[in-house]
Amino acid sequence: MEVFESASPEETQKIASNLAQKLKKGAVLALAGDLGAGKTTFTQGFARGLGIKDMVISPTFVLIRQHKFGAGQTLFHVDLYRLEDNIDIKGLGLEDMFRHKNDIILIEWAEKIKDELPKETIWINFEKLDAENRKITVQM
Ligand code: ADP
Ligand code: MG
Repeated sequence: MEVFESASPEETQKIASNLAQKLKKGAVLALAGDLGAGKTTFTQGFARGLGIKDMVISPTFVLIRQHKFGAGQTLFHVDLYRLEDNIDIKGLGLEDMFRHKNDIILIEWAEKIKDELPKETIWINFEKLDAENRKITVQM
């Protein structure tokens, strides 16, 4: 387990970008924490670290956005904020996504589907300490 303290959005993005450069393909990242804790900010830095130049915004209405990187790889950015608690998640195509061993899957609000995630999932927890400070805990 690795714990980071971040004092700015830029610092959170730097932590994310460093992690992106160390990860193996096929990784599943589960981001958990309250609204405004920094999950999307982290994802932007993470995408930069993979070499993605697209604008990364929260896929709030579509649930999943895809960004190409590397040698034909895809970053799947999933945001489950608007997922109803009792919805049938079987229809979301997550199982198919988890079979993409060349790609990277990053899920915001992953705590909503924690029982469906592969056991090797890397959990990243975001805690808002105050307006600027965040505690980021990586469990891999
Ligand atoms: P989430 O996706 O978890 O809801 P966002 O990344 O969308 O959170 O929002 C985080 C907000 O907090 C942004 O407005 C960002 O500018 C602000 N912020 C302030 N300090 C930090 C920090 N240290 N790390 C990340 N975001 C921060
Ligand atoms: Mg978000």
